[in-house]
Amino acid sequence: MFHGAAREVTGSCHIVHVGQSAVALDFGLFQGHRSEANDKNLALPFTPEHLSAVILSHAHLDHAGRLPVLARFGFNRPVYSTPATRDLCAIMLADAARLAQRDAEYLARRNRPVVAPLYDERDVARLMPHFKCVPYDTPVAVAPGIRATFLDAGHILGSASVVFECSENGRTRRLVYSGDIGRRGLPIIRDPHPPNGADAVIMESTYGDRDHISIADMPAQLARVVRDTAARGGRVFIPAFAVGRAQELLHDLHALRRSGAIPPIPIVLDSPLAIAATSVFAAHREDADLGEPLVRAVRDFLSFEGLELTQDVEASKALNLRTGPMIIIAGSGMVEGGRILHHLLRGTPDPRNTILIVGFMAENTLGRRIVERRPALRILGEEVPLRAHVEILNGYSAHADRGELHDWVRAVRGAGARDLPVFLVHGEAGAQDAFAARLRGDGFSVTTPERGSVYAV
Ligand code: ZN
Repeated sequence: MFHGAAREVTGSCHIVHVGQSAVALDFGLFQGHRSEANDKNLALPFTPEHLSAVILSHAHLDHAGRLPVLARFGFNRPVYSTPATRDLCAIMLADAARLAQRDAEYLARRNRPVVAPLYDERDVARLMPHFKCVPYDTPVAVAPGIRATFLDAGHILGSASVVFECSENGRTRRLVYSGDIGRRGLPIIRDPHPPNGADAVIMESTYGDRDHISIADMPAQLARVVRDTAARGGRVFIPAFAVGRAQELLHDLHALRRSGAIPPIPIVLDSPLAIAATSVFAAHREDADLGEPLVRAVRDFLSFEGLELTQDVEASKALNLRTGPMIIIAGSGMVEGGRILHHLLRGTPDPRNTILIVGFMAENTLGRRIVERRPALRILGEEVPLRAHVEILNGYSAHADRGELHDWVRAVRGAGARDLPVFLVHGEAGAQDAFAARLRGDGFSVTTPERGSVYAV
C-alpha cells in the first residue's frame, strides 16, 4: 500500500502486509502548501495498533519526520533503523518540534494565520525508546513472516536500502525498498550497496529525468559562485539539509579556502542542528567512507580558519548587522522554515547576493519558487522582490541521477527475470514518467502508484 511519496517527493510511507503482519516503510512528513501538507500529515492512513513495526530507511524528515505523530497516538511497537539513523533522528526530530513551535509563535506575534505544530518535544521523547538498532548486512525478524536486512544506500550517514523476505502460506517473496539512493564517489559517505536479487522493487525516482554534473566538477563550480558573489560585495546564502549536504559543503569550502580558490570571507554554519549532526558523523566512524583520512576530515569540519558556528538566535540575528561578503549555510533544506528564512527576508532584494541551491526543492515549497526565479517571494508572510542571483548546483545532491538509479536497479535485477516488477515512488510525475519509460525500454515491468493504491506481489 502506498500512502505517501506517491507521484511526489515528500511524505514517504509504504505499508507491506504479510499474513497478519503490517510494517510501515518510513513515515515521513509531507511538505509544500502549508495547510494541504498539514492535513495530509494529520491524516493517519492506519490505526497505530494495527502496525507491527516501522522500518526507517534514513533520518531525513521526508522519511522520518512524522514518526512522533505515531507516538502521540500511542504507537508502542519497534522502529527499526541503523544506529546512526537513530542518533540523527534524536536530534533532528527534537529540532523539528522546536522549530515548528518557534515558527508558530513568530506568526502568532505578527497576527498571521498559524498552523498548530504536529507534535512537540514530549512526543519525540515518547518515540525514541521504541527505536531498535540494526547493523548493516544483518537479517532481523521484524514481524511474524517478515525478515529485514539493511544495506548501505550511500545517501546520508546511516541511510539504508532494505531487503524484506516475506513468508506467507509456505512461500517466500523478496521485496527490496531502495530508500533514497546516493551518488557514487561523494566525499564522506560510502557508495550505495545495491541488494542482489528481488521479486519486486520499490524505488525512489527523484532525479529520474536528469543527469548531475560530475562530482569532480563541483568544487570548481562552488568556487566560481563564491568568487563572483564576493566580487559584487554580496553574500552567498545556501539553504541546506543539516545532514549530508551541509557536511559536504563544509568539506569542499574548507579545501577551496586552503587552496586560495575562494577569497578569505567568513563561512557561517548558522544551524545548531547541522553542528550537532556533524558530531554524529564523528561518533559513527564505522559507517563513514575513506577510513582514517576521513576521520581527520570530520574533526576538521568544525575547526578551520574562517568558519564560524552560530548556536543561539542572537548570534544568528547579529549576522544581519555585519557588512561585507560572507557565506551563510542554514536550514531548512527546502526553505520551508528555519533560520534561512530570516536571512532571505533581508537578503533576497539585494542584487549583490546569491541564493545557492544545492538540493532538490519539492513542488510548492519556497525553495522551488526560488529555483523558478519568481519575480517576488513570500517569506514569513512578507512579499519581497527576488533580485539576488540564483545559482543551482545539483552536483551536491545526495540523490543518484537517472544513470545511477538505472545502474542500481539493474544491479538488483542481476541475473534474474528481465521483467522484474518495479514500483516507482519519491518522484514527481515528470521525473517518474521519464524514468519509467527508460526502465520499460530495458525490460522492467514498471508501475507508478498513486497515493492510496494497493498491489499484490
Ligand atoms: Zn533523503
